[in-house]
Amino acid sequence: MISKSLRLLLLVEDNPGDARLLKEMLHEAGAHKTELTQAESMAEAEKHLAQALFDIVLLDLGLPDAQGLEAVRRARAVAPRVPLVVLTGLDDETLATRALQEGAQDYLIKGQIETRGLLRALRYAIERKGLEEALFVVKERAQVTLNCIGDAVVCTDIEGKITFLNLVAEKMTGWPWEEAVGQPMAEVFRIQDAATHEPTPNPMEAALGQNRTVHLPSNCILIRRDGFETPIEDSVAPIHDREGKATGAVIVFRDVSAARAMAEQMIHSAQHDFLTGLPNRMLLNDRVNQAIALAARHAKKVAVLFLDLDGFKHINDSLGHPIGDKLLQSIAKRLVSCVRGSDTVSRQGGDEFVVLLSEMAQQEDAAISALRILEAVSKAHSIDQHDLHLTASIGVSVCPDDGLDAETLIKNADIAMYQAKENGRQSYQFFKPVMNVRAVQRQSIEESLRRALERNEFSLHYQPKIRLATGEITGAEALIRWTHPTHGPVSPANFIPVAEDCGLILPIGQWVLREACMQARAWLDAGLPLGSIAVNISSMEFREDNFLESVFTTLSETGLDPKCLELELTESVLMKRAESAASVLKALRARGVQIAVDDFGTGYSSLSYLRKFPIDALKIDQSFVRQITSAPDDSTIVTAVISMGRSLKLRVVAEGVETQGELAFLRARQCDEAQGFYFSRPVLPHQFANLLKSGIPEASVVVHR
Ligand code: C2E
Ligand code: MG
Ligand code: MG
Repeated sequence: MISKSLRLLLLVEDNPGDARLLKEMLHEAGAHKTELTQAESMAEAEKHLAQALFDIVLLDLGLPDAQGLEAVRRARAVAPRVPLVVLTGLDDETLATRALQEGAQDYLIKGQIETRGLLRALRYAIERKGLEEALFVVKERAQVTLNCIGDAVVCTDIEGKITFLNLVAEKMTGWPWEEAVGQPMAEVFRIQDAATHEPTPNPMEAALGQNRTVHLPSNCILIRRDGFETPIEDSVAPIHDREGKATGAVIVFRDVSAARAMAEQMIHSAQHDFLTGLPNRMLLNDRVNQAIALAARHAKKVAVLFLDLDGFKHINDSLGHPIGDKLLQSIAKRLVSCVRGSDTVSRQGGDEFVVLLSEMAQQEDAAISALRILEAVSKAHSIDQHDLHLTASIGVSVCPDDGLDAETLIKNADIAMYQAKENGRQSYQFFKPVMNVRAVQRQSIEESLRRALERNEFSLHYQPKIRLATGEITGAEALIRWTHPTHGPVSPANFIPVAEDCGLILPIGQWVLREACMQARAWLDAGLPLGSIAVNISSMEFREDNFLESVFTTLSETGLDPKCLELELTESVLMKRAESAASVLKALRARGVQIAVDDFGTGYSSLSYLRKFPIDALKIDQSFVRQITSAPDDSTIVTAVISMGRSLKLRVVAEGVETQGELAFLRARQCDEAQGFYFSRPVLPHQFANLLKSGIPEASVVVHR
């Protein structure tokens, strides 16, 4: 309870008799501590009120300069927060009541005042004023709060008529408070289901009916007065009186468009590929399963086309990821343009796409689509001034023949795609059960590879490189051989890619390097004239953080002079992250290790990089050497590479020399070195030692011609 003491009292009374009487009564009542100031006119009272903060004003309504309500108003105007008790005559009770309406706390009727009653009236007046002030503060605070919060607030009475709207609610409903008050709630707060646009049942009725807070269904929209729609979320709570009886309701709601858009966005990105915007693996699985269910009902077929780009990795490695990304986007667009709107094109990741053809009448339709896709993909893609050409391989599986669920169909289409790749680029292949066997074989290669190292199933063969000017052996290339315990010899072309895929190339590569270095050291120790030993390094090894360290450690542990080691790297390995590649090569060069570019001409050769990297030799790929005799017109490439190598002061080595004709051509163009079956196949270490001792007769024969 607010209780203030009665210390400063202002008595506004012009009648001296009345004033004296009041003072005496106060004294008698024991209000000793009360300091009484008297004013005889309103003007005088106003002065006092402006100067001091009185606890109460006792105001006569018949002053010389202010009568009746005017006196009340003037007193309130100067001191609105000071409690006011008015003094009236016996016949003036109506005036007294009006004074209360104007803000006075109480009235006393002259001639009827008694000592005790006076003091009590004054105290009550002070108390009442205190309560009024406190209530005002609370109300004001509530009002400000309601207008400051981000939520919209609407209040109604028990009949559902609007009694209050805060600023946010005004904005969201489009109704100003003054107009909304008294309107039925459904008129101002119009809500519908977002999907059906059916009106949503009035939540207020539910809240009042169940006498508890209720929430709207989750996909509600609010229709503004001008028709604008906002998705909202809300709660409605009943308001109670002291007896617990509901007297109305409060509706609190907020705009959730941002949150809903975000949720939709999240669902979308969880189901779509970021780069191309196509459905991803997850969504595709759903769609395939739906299509299967639908096709079964309509006695139709469903086909899954698994597409993999040929040579995409090359483009990505040599031209960079930004171009690779754009190429994938361009492919995605072409694929979408090849199929019906009811079909689905999805990206599985990397350069793999899956196309779902739903409701197909016959299997041949899939073949037609596959051909159309192959053709569309193979047309030039013009990206950042490059005209890029690439082909694709497609595997096809059909439901119900090749599988009855998404997972099996996609897996089998993938297997068929591998077969298509083996058949040659730019082709498609329907799945056949026998292919599964081959996929299993690949799997089993991986499993046996894991054990091959510890079981000592690897060995190295060595193939000589010949200096064409003299016919002498300049060195050997170490080539890995794997003898599978049951399958016998497996070609590196078959298992190296598997080892690269599963990471096993790292321990295998380490083993090759160590073995080759040890062998070279042994030959040198035996006094044999080995120039250098060449070891093939795959891209995964080269990219390893500790690559340099492991090369140098192997060299020092085997005691081989770094000058006797040559590392063969393909163009794409170098082009990938050219900056870091250059620094690794420089570190190798600083120690004397030599670098050869393997399979030169098959990658996206950018001649400028040859200057950037410290390279010692170029190995012309066999496919170009083959052209020397099979397509002599195309042999200009070989000629060009040889002369370019010479001008850049690089050693040029021709790979895969098989015939005398090839050799003669190379020698005529002053190619530095050659390697190939014509001189020797890759051979066992002791056989290679013999070659070092005796020389290669074929090489010298030609020299003497
Ligand atoms: P590469 O480095 O280009 O090796 C040359 C390949 O050509 C070898 O095949 C070799 O046997 C073959 N070859 C040599 N002369 C002739 C010829 O006159 N005619 C024909 N038709 N072929 C010839 P191989 O040994 O089967 O190796 C294939 C590829 O496997 C190699 O190509 C290399 O990329 C990779 N490879 C071999 N050993 C290793 C290794 O230890 N580590 C890594 N990372 N890759 C290796
Ligand atoms: Mg090589
Ligand atoms: Mg090669």
